[in-house]
Amino acid sequence: MSPEIRFCNACGHATDFRIPDGDHLPRHVCPACGHIQYLNPKVIVGVIPEHADGRVLMCRRNIEPRFGLWTFPAGFMELNETSAQGAAREALEEAQVDVQVDGLLMVINVPYVSQIYLIHRGTMRGDHFGPTFESSEVRLMREDEIPWDEIAFPTILHSLRQFFADRAGGRYGLHSLDLTFRPRPPQRAEVPGDAATP
Ligand code: ZN
Repeated sequence: MSPEIRFCNACGHATDFRIPDGDHLPRHVCPACGHIQYLNPKVIVGVIPEHADGRVLMCRRNIEPRFGLWTFPAGFMELNETSAQGAAREALEEAQVDVQVDGLLMVINVPYVSQIYLIHRGTMRGDHFGPTFESSEVRLMREDEIPWDEIAFPTILHSLRQFFADRAGGRYGLHSLDLTFRPRPPQRAEVPGDAATP
């Protein structure tokens, strides 16, 4: 299963979809210039920012998908950055928060969408945070204030649960998880405050 790519991104010629010599999977190959466009998984980097008082910083999504649901800062890794740099950048972009990114908490494979999540623990520097284009609301929450039924993605939910379990046990580790089946998408009526939307 591969997204359709119709034209070579090197020369613009129409591409073929075939197994190149010495390879084992079909690729988008340019018959004119020989360029092969490889498609590989996307990496999502994220951080759970922890305040000095133990609360964690959560963001209500102001963008699709999962508009209106909650997450911690996470997004697609950019070229030429480390996972920690990417997580810190996302925290600034999504929550206006300056975070010292600490160790990795979770590595999550999501093969049905060809994504890998790298989720870090993090420590807030100072008290400043606030809403952004991507987050309509940004709030510090205790564990018992987390809206567990309104979390945007299973990867976020599993990471939060692991974070609080580790902290309760007084021992942080690096955990891995494979999410191998596609969850049922949330219905619009399940989005809080959105029940009247058809
Ligand atoms: Zn070409």
